[in-house]
Amino acid sequence: MIIAIDGTTASGKGTIAKRLSGYYGLPHMDTGRLYRAVGVAAVKHGVALDAAGPLADIARTLDLNDFIEHELRSAEAGKAASVVAAIPSVRQALFELQRAFATQAGGALLDGRDIGTVIAPDADVKLWVDADVIQRSVRRWKELVGQGDMIPLETVVEQLKTRDARDQGRSDAPAAMAADAILIDTTDLTIDAAVEKALAAVEAALARGKTA
Ligand code: C5P
Repeated sequence: MIIAIDGTTASGKGTIAKRLSGYYGLPHMDTGRLYRAVGVAAVKHGVALDAAGPLADIARTLDLNDFIEHELRSAEAGKAASVVAAIPSVRQALFELQRAFATQAGGALLDGRDIGTVIAPDADVKLWVDADVIQRSVRRWKELVGQGDMIPLETVVEQLKTRDARDQGRSDAPAAMAADAILIDTTDLTIDAAVEKALAAVEAALARGKTA
């Protein structure tokens, strides 16, 4: 079974993905980490964020063990990720890795922006997780402040809006809800309630699949 969980930044998709992967016993790939790692490596090695060739080389030879979690989770890493993610050769370089993970024996759960549309259009269940931009900004801001990153909330709102626009507006694999995805709006939900809702949606979709 393949479960595809896509959605906007800080919508709660990462937590939903982790919890559902535990529930179903499916290996989980957070595909945003791949793009974050490419962005962080580029900044570290002084590679311009629009240098398609060198960035694709970084993507092809990526080893996630070279990164510490804190640097991948930073606001700068998220921004750099979204810039390099708009480059087709970078996406191409990361495609096989994600596709192989998705199609491994026993199934998998992946979360990102284009899992249901590009990486695993054949997924058994697709969710699109979204929430109001202010609500998402507050969540991300709390996370960043918790890590010691004293960034003003207004800056986070602006960053999120810019990131959404870039992710949804790029020509190659724009972040988009697949036609057959189920929308999970987490605006007014606690994380536990959001997970419950996602789980119920997956169960209903699987039951429909069995009777189809
Ligand atoms: O989900 P996360 O915030 O970690 O993703 C960071 C960035 O990586 C996103 O803003 C997006 O530009 C990019 N991304 C993508 N495709 C994916 C996952 C992430 O383009 N499947």
